[in-house]
Amino acid sequence: MRIALLTSLFFSLQLVAQSDRVKNFTKQLCSPEFHGRGYVNGGDSLAANYIAKTFQEIGLEALNGTYFQSFSFPVNTFPNKLEVKIGDKQLTPGVDFIVDAASGKGNGTMVFQTLGIYEMYTGKYSFSKLDKNKMFYFENIGYGGDTLTKVKENLEKIAKYAPVMEVVSTKLMWSVSGKAHNFPYIQIQETAFKNYFLSNSTVTFAIDAKIKNHTARNVIGYLPATKKAKKTIMITAHYDHLGRMGAATYFPGANDNASGNGMLISLAEKFKAKGLKNYNLLFVAFAGEEIGLYGSMYMASHPPIDLKNIQFLLNLDIMGSGEEGVTVVNATLFPEEFTRLENINKEKNYLPQIKKRGPAANSDHYFFTEAGVPAFYIYTLGPNKHYHDIYDTYEELSFSAFGNLSNLLEAFFREMK
Ligand SMILES: [Zn+2]
Repeated sequence: MRIALLTSLFFSLQLVAQSDRVKNFTKQLCSPEFHGRGYVNGGDSLAANYIAKTFQEIGLEALNGTYFQSFSFPVNTFPNKLEVKIGDKQLTPGVDFIVDAASGKGNGTMVFQTLGIYEMYTGKYSFSKLDKNKMFYFENIGYGGDTLTKVKENLEKIAKYAPVMEVVSTKLMWSVSGKAHNFPYIQIQETAFKNYFLSNSTVTFAIDAKIKNHTARNVIGYLPATKKAKKTIMITAHYDHLGRMGAATYFPGANDNASGNGMLISLAEKFKAKGLKNYNLLFVAFAGEEIGLYGSMYMASHPPIDLKNIQFLLNLDIMGSGEEGVTVVNATLFPEEFTRLENINKEKNYLPQIKKRGPAANSDHYFFTEAGVPAFYIYTLGPNKHYHDIYDTYEELSFSAFGNLSNLLEAFFREMK
């Protein structure tokens, strides 16, 4: 009884901590209308417009007359047909199988060819000798570490010469690529595969893939300091995700990283209500992160303000949990700032723990760090392990640390010397 009471009290506090705008905004970014904020049906562009509109509603200003910064890159997309059938049974994309991000297009009926683990590990086989009319089948089960890496590399090579079917027992995790193999590369769940294939059915596949040159946009919102200030604080979060894999399946990218955009909006609201005296603020929603940090790489080399005038950059990516606190990347590079963050947390008891981590090239702070801009990248820790899969939905976000973390970050910048 008491637990139930405490739980409902806890939830109502969380609701207060998160404004309606932040909630609706985060939910909307995860909706099918935004197509997984990727490269099919203009998903990332719709999201960019929506973020810019929200920046404007909050009262953030355009910078140099625009909320956008455009850049282009090639991307492999799966806009249409994406089918794997075992007998009459149509497998479900994202659940039973995925295609490799760099899968080529093609269709056919599966006739097997395969190689042993020796060839797959060493690559000592001329893969060009494989029959392009047969599917290369490999059970990639039970391998780890170096072996797994080598096998994956060689499967990618084989997809240049023949269609590939890789059977796995691990979680299906998708990504996005700027390249395409000559042939389809399908990754299938062992359970889905064995259930049906043991019945001696034929396997057919039809994969439509298309490389296109894509123009994406970083979204920028500016909030000047209440006094005239030279220095600027940047707060960033990538809004792109993986998009659609075939016409019917999309990856919502709730924790990664609609949640980070929610935190961006939450901080924008707070600083709009009460500005900083000594620092301008630049809120940036980056595009093209999942394909290789393209948006932040572009902005770090085409900065809308002088990089020397950036006092500090805070990157937010995966903000949807926090039951186990947060991790701070670059903590070891900026011990003074990290101590300040820790001290505020100790005093206010906002988070159960703040973990320290060294530099890592794992999100959009990276190219700014390389360019000499002091930066933290913060992500939440908790039981939500959905990552790059169709289960990373808005409904799975606990927002456990959201309100407290937002307060902690606000205090961190208000106390910035
Ligand atoms: Zn991310």
